[in-house]
Amino acid sequence: MSSSATSEKDSSSGARPATYRFECIGCASVTPSPANDFRCPHCGNLLEITDPAWKAPHGNPESLKSLWRERRLLNRPVDLSGVWRFRELLPAPSSEHLIVTLREGNTPLYELPRSSRSTGIAKLYAKHQGMNPTGSFKDTGMTVAATLARQAGFAWVACASTGNTSASMAAYAARAGMRSLVLVPEGKISWSKLSQALDYGALTCQLRTDFDGCLRLLQELVKRAPVYQLNSINPFRIEGQKTAAIELLEQFDWEPPDHIIVPGGNLGNSSAIGKALLEMHNLGLISRLPKLSVIQAEGANALVRTLRETGGKRLVSVQAETRATAIRIGNPASWQKAVRVLQATGGSCEEVSEAEIAEAKAEIGAEGIGCEPASAVTLAGLKKLLRHGFVKAGETVVLILTGNLLKDPDFTIEFHRGEIPGKEANDRNKELDSFRHPPVVLDATLDAVMQALERAEKSTPVSNAISNESET
Ligand SMILES: *Cc1c(COP(=O)(O)O)cnc(C)c1O
Ligand SMILES: [Zn+2]
Repeated sequence: MSSSATSEKDSSSGARPATYRFECIGCASVTPSPANDFRCPHCGNLLEITDPAWKAPHGNPESLKSLWRERRLLNRPVDLSGVWRFRELLPAPSSEHLIVTLREGNTPLYELPRSSRSTGIAKLYAKHQGMNPTGSFKDTGMTVAATLARQAGFAWVACASTGNTSASMAAYAARAGMRSLVLVPEGKISWSKLSQALDYGALTCQLRTDFDGCLRLLQELVKRAPVYQLNSINPFRIEGQKTAAIELLEQFDWEPPDHIIVPGGNLGNSSAIGKALLEMHNLGLISRLPKLSVIQAEGANALVRTLRETGGKRLVSVQAETRATAIRIGNPASWQKAVRVLQATGGSCEEVSEAEIAEAKAEIGAEGIGCEPASAVTLAGLKKLLRHGFVKAGETVVLILTGNLLKDPDFTIEFHRGEIPGKEANDRNKELDSFRHPPVVLDATLDAVMQALERAEKSTPVSNAISNESET
């Protein structure tokens, strides 16, 4: 796919040799052209793309910042993409014409006034990666990896997925004129996500196993068949996902927040955001490192246990179970990368219950924003980190919301009908009911609707709380 370890950094001309440097995270050996499984040929560990040029500023940090800012005024697809706008820190293809983009990135940074009041954290923000073209952060990595798959001339791309990766992959493959193979656990992904893969034309296989089983099978398949692997084991995806953090810092005018909190499933996203923070720090784009913390569901807490029981030295796998299906992963592929960035930034790792996830999701919905269940672990986790004193009220905190509200309507509807998080948890948590808004069925008369209005007025007085939001 590529050869030497050199790299010419001026990409504005659109012509630069496509050369990448893959470094093993285990034995540190460098591979110029890895096999299709993206594993180290010596020890089998994961590879990471490192570029010596990224360690030295491109000109100086200030000129890089203004170059990125100026591109926002341009209308070429590569400049309109919130990923490729930052191409100085990405592995670029041999020609810009190969780039597959759906104008990913450019996601909003919101204030969270209600949650600010409930947590006491005045400077609380959400970076909503669910506002990407297919509704999750996966698009930011997929644009890079799909571009490289196209450059390498693959006819087929493939992934194992809890849903969002397959939706994203199928979209980018379709745009690039490649065929896509999706392996998903039967019955364990939402219809919204599955329907996306179908509409974008993927060959969709529902396997009678869990996500971990799908991923194991895919890794065998790529050794036998000429399909390009688009799981987050693919280091090009991690590179693209870095841009969430770069864009976030730009939105903060390069003044780093104190904490960034992400959900952890397969742990590719936390690894990517951590890698970006470390690279930006090395380049002098930011003067200090935010602490990156990862939150998992109690039923899928492999990283929590890995850190607690082995100090991050050995993976403790679990049999994953949670309604937050995007993080229903028991054997996270990128656990070592995640441990490294957590330790390098001084972040923490927490687990939250199904009831806490449901409540946090409803709270984010009540902000007029919404997200899918997996994203809501960030707010639930923040509350825990506050109680433990790891986060302090005066600090600036950013939650990374990874997926769109529309990704899992079943969860949302069951919650509002009172069916989630389950009888026992409901009895213990009366506060949850204040967030429930089940639909009411009425006769089609003016009286009936007027009475419904009055009843609603009495039970939940209208809040005038949300006012004058300003984007940072
Ligand atoms: C993929 C995904 C996650 C988990 O990200 P990892 O990189 O697997 O840790 C969390 N939330 C949503 C919405 C996702 O799609
Ligand atoms: Zn190795």
